[in-house]
Amino acid sequence: MKLVFATNNFNKIKEVQSLIPDHIKLLSLKDIGCFEDVPETQLTIKGNAIQKAEYIQENYGFDCFADDTGLEVEALNNAPGVFSARYGGEQRDAHDNMDLLLKNLNSKPNRNAQFKTVVALHLNNNLETFTGVCKGEITAIKHGEGGFGYDPIFKAKGYSKTFAEISLEEKNTIGHRGKAVRLLVDFLSNL
Ligand code: IMP
Repeated sequence: MKLVFATNNFNKIKEVQSLIPDHIKLLSLKDIGCFEDVPETQLTIKGNAIQKAEYIQENYGFDCFADDTGLEVEALNNAPGVFSARYGGEQRDAHDNMDLLLKNLNSKPNRNAQFKTVVALHLNNNLETFTGVCKGEITAIKHGEGGFGYDPIFKAKGYSKTFAEISLEEKNTIGHRGKAVRLLVDFLSNL
């Protein structure tokens, strides 16, 4: 079975491919000739995941799934949330995003935060969504070189290392995307 994962984010493809059974071959947007910016203009994480999956189905004719992720920080009223990608500016730079978040949290003792991923699956004219949440906290400074996005400043609950300091397998076991993708895999296995 071939299924499009509506992303060109190599890190996401690597994470998700390792969770998907071997008989499902993931195709990226590049693989289906999609080089445009897929619109994500909704005001919720779930809305954006659905928008991306529907856009690819309608414009490229492939069954597919898309994910959207946000980092919700308690002391910032759950910001940046759905605006996580552009938090530090339109250039969507991970370090600009983290620097602004650390600055805005500077004087706040409450460091609680969670990653939330929604995966939207468009398959045989049906739409399903799967949600994964990982609770944790924002560190004072960046630690580690692995992962991507906000990983260097996020420690999962009970962990002393950030997501940028643990292995991909460990991140997949406890992380938001891993949880959402395992629900997707369960669903696909029961078809
Ligand atoms: P999107 O899901 O690609 O739209 O991601 C929104 C923002 O969250 C981007 O800035 C990503 O870099 C960041 N992000 C998404 N997934 C993760 C993750 O697993 N760890 C850290 N940051 C992430």
